[in-house]
Amino acid sequence: MRDPPRHAHLFPGSRRERRYSRRLMRILPVPCLSDNYAYLVAADGRREAIVIDPSEAQPIIAALEREKLGLVAIVNTHHHHDHVGGNEALRERYGDLPVYAHSSDVGRVPAQTERVEEGTPVQVAGLTLQPLHVPGHTLGAVSYCVEDVVFTGDTLFIAGCGRMFEGTPEVMHASLSKLAALPAHTRVFCGHEYTVNNLRFAEAVEPENEAVRKKLAAARAARERGEPTVGSTMADELATNPFLRCGEPSLRARFPGAAPSDVFAAVRRAKDDYR
Ligand SMILES: [Zn+2]
Ligand SMILES: [Zn+2]
Repeated sequence: MRDPPRHAHLFPGSRRERRYSRRLMRILPVPCLSDNYAYLVAADGRREAIVIDPSEAQPIIAALEREKLGLVAIVNTHHHHDHVGGNEALRERYGDLPVYAHSSDVGRVPAQTERVEEGTPVQVAGLTLQPLHVPGHTLGAVSYCVEDVVFTGDTLFIAGCGRMFEGTPEVMHASLSKLAALPAHTRVFCGHEYTVNNLRFAEAVEPENEAVRKKLAAARAARERGEPTVGSTMADELATNPFLRCGEPSLRARFPGAAPSDVFAAVRRAKDDYR
C-alpha cells in the first residue's frame, strides 16, 4: 500500500544500491518494485544475512549472490504485499527459513513462522532485534531496532509517515511518538523512497524551516545521483518531519488542535490531499 510513486521517474528500474558499513553490522538497501526498499542486514564478519521486507524475491537473490551472503531469516514490518511479496519464493529457494512478523499478523503474513512481540528480542544471525509495536498504518506494524538503527517499514518515512489504514490518529501518533523517543543518533531506514515528495510537503507546511530546505536539497541531489535517501537520523526527523513536530508552534499555528494527536490528524489529512 503506497502513496503514488511521484518521483519514480528519478530512478526507473534502478538497481543501484549503497552499502552502509557499521561497526557491528552491514546494511544493504535493496530497491524493489517501483519505490520499495528491502534490507539485507549482516552482523560484521558473518556471511549470514537476514532480509527485512522482501517485496519480491529476485532483487534479494541477486544481492545475496553479489555479496556472497547466505539468507537465514525473513523479517516483516507488516502484512502489506509490497513488504511480504517475496517471502514464499525466498523460502522455496533457501529452505524453510523462519519468518518473523507481529503475533497479530498470523494469517496475514505469508509463511509466517514466528510471533513477534514488543519486549521480546529476536536473536538471529548474530543480531539482536528489539521489536517496537507501532500500530496505525496497520494494527500489526512493527519497527525493529538493531543496535543504533531502526527499520520502520511504512510507519515512519524520511520526513513523512504512512497512511492510517488500520489505526486512529491517536494510535498512530502514539506509535510515532514511541519512535521519536529513540536516541537522537538512531539511524532511520524506512520502506519506501518517498523522501523528496515528503520534504516538498514539509516545506509547504513549514516554509520557514531551514532544516527542511537543506534536507530537501540534499535529498534531490542524492536522487539525481541515483542514491537512496534512507539512513536519516532521528535528530534530522525531529527537525524536519512534520508528523513528529505536531507540538511545535509552527505546526500548531497552521493546524489548530487541542491535542498533538489532533494536530497530527490535520497534518495527515493535508498530506493525503497534497499533490
Ligand atoms: Zn509499503
Ligand atoms: Zn504498508
